[in-house]
Amino acid sequence: MDKVLVVRDLRKYFPVSGGFFRRPRYVRAVDGVSFDVAKGETLGLVGESGCGKSTLAMLVMRLIEPTGGRIIFKGVDITALDEERLKEVRRDMGIVFQDPYSSLNPRMTVFQALSRPLVLHGVRDKAEVRRRVIEMLELVGLGEEFLERYPHQLSGGQLQRVAIARAIILNPTLTIFDEPTSSLDVSVQSQILNLILDLQRRLGLTYIFISHDLMTVRHVSDRIAVMYLGKIVEMGDADEVFHSPLHPYTAALITSFPLPNPRLKGVRRLQIRGEVPSAINPPPGCRFHTRCPYATSRCRKEEPRLMDVGHGHMVACHRYGEIDVAKHVREFWRAYGGG
Ligand code: SF4
Repeated sequence: MDKVLVVRDLRKYFPVSGGFFRRPRYVRAVDGVSFDVAKGETLGLVGESGCGKSTLAMLVMRLIEPTGGRIIFKGVDITALDEERLKEVRRDMGIVFQDPYSSLNPRMTVFQALSRPLVLHGVRDKAEVRRRVIEMLELVGLGEEFLERYPHQLSGGQLQRVAIARAIILNPTLTIFDEPTSSLDVSVQSQILNLILDLQRRLGLTYIFISHDLMTVRHVSDRIAVMYLGKIVEMGDADEVFHSPLHPYTAALITSFPLPNPRLKGVRRLQIRGEVPSAINPPPGCRFHTRCPYATSRCRKEEPRLMDVGHGHMVACHRYGEIDVAKHVREFWRAYGGG
């Protein structure tokens, strides 16, 4: 398959003040992450807040500098590019952030916001710019009447449609969505998700879709990568990860869905203990061992490798093949009525 993006052993450590006499300490926000994205597919990245997924998005666009590792975009190692060539690369990537209010300039009309990337990209003909802006507005479900409106005159859903239009107006090879529906009303969320899917079908776009909500990620993704404390712990086909997870953390995420179904009351969920530990001083061995109900002494000492266990389904767990975490999920979906 044609790979648009290849990420290998990517790391980002943020320094934190350790005091004058102390050794410098680091937040290991992303710590040795590898994955590929094929042309036309959606890779979903899921995990609790603070697991490093948004840092990963910024790294892929090189909006922040990696501490180590490689990012190969369309066959070019962009970790080694200078700022001038990076600008060209970034034009070929779009990003949509969580909060459309803060991602759009309040002093710019919709027309100004959407025409800017075209003009910067060298489209000089004013009629051509206007035609492409209107065409893009219609693609995201807004009409010409929105051209002269300012962000404060738009609803949250309309603003996010404008942000999406801006991200894809140059027809980028890769578009990253970082929690694009989290700040929207529930009633609008599914409209935006369907728009994102529709645009992909119509324009053949390639996506990385980031969310803390596995249900949302599953809805839009072909493959899912589950992150925990800066690392990918499971990755594979979206349906397979969702119905037959191999990592205890994935199973815990799935069975923690707050479903208002009385039949689920008696279902045993896979419970995990406590909160996510600090990424400044992550637990040794398997980072999940402090919360994992299956942890053994080996888990506390030795870090599990992410390994392919068949058909591209990858898991990082010493006890793969020995424990059946999917049974919790099967029981959960049976009670739910099939998922
Ligand atoms: Fe749990 Fe051990 Fe597997 Fe980590 S390696 S997920 S602690 S069983």
